[in-house]
Amino acid sequence: MAHLQTDIPRDIDGLLPPGGGGSLRIAYAKHLLREYLEEEHAKKHGWSKEEDRGLKPIFRHVPSSLDDIEESDGLLSGDGEPPVKGKICIVGAGVAGLFTALMLKMSGIYNFDVVEASERVGGRLYTHWFSDRKNPDSEHDYYDIGAMRIPDIQTMSALDLISFLQLDHKKAEYNYTEKNSGTPNEIPVPNMWWYKNQTPDGSKFDAAVKRVIESFTHAQSFDIAFKKFMDGSNDYYSTRAWLMLQADPKLTYEETTMGEASDTSTGLFDQAFTETICDYCDFAAAKHAKWWRLDGGMHQITERMKELIEMPNWPEGSGAPGIKIITSRPVTAMSETADKSAISVTTTGPKGESPSTTDYSTVFSTTAMAPLRRIDIEGLQLSDKVLTGIRSLSYDRATKVAIKFASPWWTLVGGVSSTDLPISNVVYPSWNDGPDKPAVLMVSYSWAQDATRMGALVPDYTKTDPSIDDEVVSVCLHALVKLFSKADPKTIAANVPVPITLDFLKQQYVTHHAFAWSHDPLQGGAFALFGPGQFKDFYPEFQKVHCNGKFFMSGEALSTHHAWISGAVDSAYMSFLTFSTVYNLERQMVKVKASNLVGERGENPEEVDEFLLKWAAKLSKGVKVRGDNDWAGRSHWKNAPGDENAKEGLDEDWCDCC
Ligand SMILES: Cc1cc2nc3c(=O)[nH]c(=O)nc-3n(C[C@H](O)[C@H](O)[C@H](O)COP(=O)(O)OP(=O)(O)OC[C@H]3O[C@@H](n4cnc5c(N)ncnc54)[C@H](O)[C@@H]3O)c2cc1C
Repeated sequence: MAHLQTDIPRDIDGLLPPGGGGSLRIAYAKHLLREYLEEEHAKKHGWSKEEDRGLKPIFRHVPSSLDDIEESDGLLSGDGEPPVKGKICIVGAGVAGLFTALMLKMSGIYNFDVVEASERVGGRLYTHWFSDRKNPDSEHDYYDIGAMRIPDIQTMSALDLISFLQLDHKKAEYNYTEKNSGTPNEIPVPNMWWYKNQTPDGSKFDAAVKRVIESFTHAQSFDIAFKKFMDGSNDYYSTRAWLMLQADPKLTYEETTMGEASDTSTGLFDQAFTETICDYCDFAAAKHAKWWRLDGGMHQITERMKELIEMPNWPEGSGAPGIKIITSRPVTAMSETADKSAISVTTTGPKGESPSTTDYSTVFSTTAMAPLRRIDIEGLQLSDKVLTGIRSLSYDRATKVAIKFASPWWTLVGGVSSTDLPISNVVYPSWNDGPDKPAVLMVSYSWAQDATRMGALVPDYTKTDPSIDDEVVSVCLHALVKLFSKADPKTIAANVPVPITLDFLKQQYVTHHAFAWSHDPLQGGAFALFGPGQFKDFYPEFQKVHCNGKFFMSGEALSTHHAWISGAVDSAYMSFLTFSTVYNLERQMVKVKASNLVGERGENPEEVDEFLLKWAAKLSKGVKVRGDNDWAGRSHWKNAPGDENAKEGLDEDWCDCC
């Protein structure tokens, strides 16, 4: 992603929280969730703040191997029974939806549908090929419209997924900085501030952010200092407001605007200050890391996931059926049935034709918030907070324009040019297929307001053919001429006229493609970014289970790792763990945990805190989660909420800790 830093940020080594940058975001998420659950728990018992006894560790840790279960309490007694009564629906076949399907299959649950609105799977993993993929004009005749790179840092569970899918051989280095000449930056990538004489000075912004991070990472106790900072009103400030009102010393409007220009895209300082510092740490953690791409395009990840879901007898020896993903069937309505035992899901053809409704005992919803808001969900009776979150969770925008030229007229291999010209960022490919081969250049990659403005020029290329006369091409070519007019001549290939001219670029033009994510009806934006107050107010509520334990929500927007594939993977895993907790599917949970689907070493993604997750389920309306004594010997699905058996031995206020 990199919706923020156009370059790896300044040196903040030694300032990162314990465990690296990613853990700051995770620490905050866990802190918020715990506070929220403690409050809910106290409310449930009518305790005052003083009486509050907190959340006790009432649940044992789920064993990590099936052997442990056999030894401990004979939970395998459910063998032979179908683990799930009723059918499950997964809405959306992006990373989160497909990952949920893989986990279900891996755990031995096969009675599910995956319903996707588009004619393709993958969602925001989307690779556009300019020529026939099997017989391309050049090896890299494509660009990734969505996700394109992954830093090799601890929190990137997407890399474990790639290994699991046996796609490691496709992993190739993504050159975050230019690498052609041996030493990075030997050829200076043109960075040009056309409307100013000098690069904007972000030093005041940098210093302010560093001071904040330092205030808790250099404190005697990270936890106490971090809690003190986050418990104040800091999350309610936009980055802009915080810098101008709370920073010490305060920044002027001019210094704040400079900071934004040097650090990110126009308008992104309207996002929450907490999102900015978490993002700053994420990128700092990635500073010395390798970055990866998938040679041939990122869509191979979701293609391979689809293949496994549709493959009979996968996992090998399981005898599982192949489950065909249903595409071109948008979900248009979801509601609880009158007896509350199921959720009715209505799908239609792509143009709203031939509606049909099926009842499912469980639904995993994985779409972005904009399409979810258009689905009629009145009958789910979600809480006000969740409905407000669906309506107002703020999203960044992103627009990409890629032009295929007759040959690579640039010499840079990797690296990014940042500019205040309308194209915002030029991303140079991390390869060179040879001087005589056509080459694709991502001439523009923009976010926030820059993306809205660039997006306004992008026609719907599923309905119209790209033409050199399209305004978006004209804007891009003019900007390239300006950008390279002051570039080091070494950035231009031999036999190419220096400086490059508009006529030259027009001769080189073969075709192009452009995509504005906020124009896509199935997305309505690029990725979520918390606005002021949203991390604090929305994140915990979304971790709960809805509709008496039948409706689970996941996907990038509901994770702490917004804008990363890993966020989608981790939130799907959290949903699965919560689902298994609610339905006492311990055996199924262990099967997934013991597989290398969630990490080669069988480790959980960092985001997962099973203690909080179980409490989140337990404190959800209408959900009964059992303590240790109730787990053993119970069969699984028959204890589902809504099932008569589930009520046995439990009362509404059942609670282990009192
Ligand atoms: C421009 C861009 C650049 C990015 N760069 C990176 C990067 O470099 N590295 C990285 O790790 N991540 C990156 N990301 C983020 C990453 O792509 C996402 O976080 C991830 O793919 C989201 O997966 P998801 O399953 O949560 O959502 P989605 O991919 O959006 O999947 C949801 C699915 O639901 C479907 N759907 C919508 N409405 C309905 C309906 N009514 N009925 C049925 N189905 C429906 C959609 O068609 C879609 O297939 C980038 C994203 C964008 C947009």
